[in-house]
Amino acid sequence: MDLTGKHAIVTGGGTGIGLAIARDLARAGAQVTITGRRMEVLQEVAEDGMHPMVMDVTDDKAVERIIAEAVDLRGPIQICIANAGIAEGRKLHKTSTEFWRKIMATNLDGCFYTVRECLKSMNTTDWGRVIAISSIAGLRGSAGAGAYGASKHGVIGMIRSFSEDFMGGPYTFNSICPGYVDTPIVTRNVDAIKDRAGISADEARDMMVTLNRHKRLISPEEVAAAAMWLCHPLSGSTNGQEIQIAGGQV
Ligand code: NDP
Repeated sequence: MDLTGKHAIVTGGGTGIGLAIARDLARAGAQVTITGRRMEVLQEVAEDGMHPMVMDVTDDKAVERIIAEAVDLRGPIQICIANAGIAEGRKLHKTSTEFWRKIMATNLDGCFYTVRECLKSMNTTDWGRVIAISSIAGLRGSAGAGAYGASKHGVIGMIRSFSEDFMGGPYTFNSICPGYVDTPIVTRNVDAIKDRAGISADEARDMMVTLNRHKRLISPEEVAAAAMWLCHPLSGSTNGQEIQIAGGQV
């Protein structure tokens, strides 16, 4: 697939799933703005065609400013990958308002600000792809992760609704719903589960692997392959959908 001439943005593009997608897009010829809160992380991974910019997705004014700057530098955004997110779990009785707001601010509000600001320039073009990284936690309930699950359900509802707003136009809006993917989020979850359950890191990791019916963690590249397919010219009839990359977990 040749994406030469296209400008893509990948939030959370310095690590994990976002980095795998950014690399694939850049290797296909796109100019890829990668964002995150840590410039040193972004600079370390940037390859040819990948352009780091610091952007905290919880700050609507910063998202507006940085995306406008990226558009000035590299032209209208035609591929928007709203990927930045945090995964922390707490049961209902331990979910403070502050914790709830933190998860929502990053996973749902951040996704909304990103898509809204990208659409301003995408609207001036004749082709566009909006892809949000939700989760299988956006498709069903997850024990001990009410805030996370609500934020990821929200992402799916938002993307489905935006697809309706633009249905029949040259843009598509879809969500990808991964199961457990081998990224820093999973490493942090392993640490949290091991401390909570009083088990070893290997046992905590095994718990995640067991849920996948292929008995392994998913690779970030497998999720990136789904994103790349959604960027393919022949994916234009897939709109307002969720693609599960979950090893049969749902
Ligand atoms: P990572 O922790 O590697 O990626 C998360 C990225 O989001 C980081 O690059 C981080 O960069 C960025 N980020 C977090 N908060 C902010 C913020 N406020 N502003 C800007 N950037 C931010 O994990 P993954 O690659 O696994 O996660 C990517 C997405 O995939 C997330 O939305 C996650 O919920 C989703 N997902 C992951 C699954 C998994 O098992 N790994 C399963 C299902 C969904 P920095 O800290 O430098 O800002």
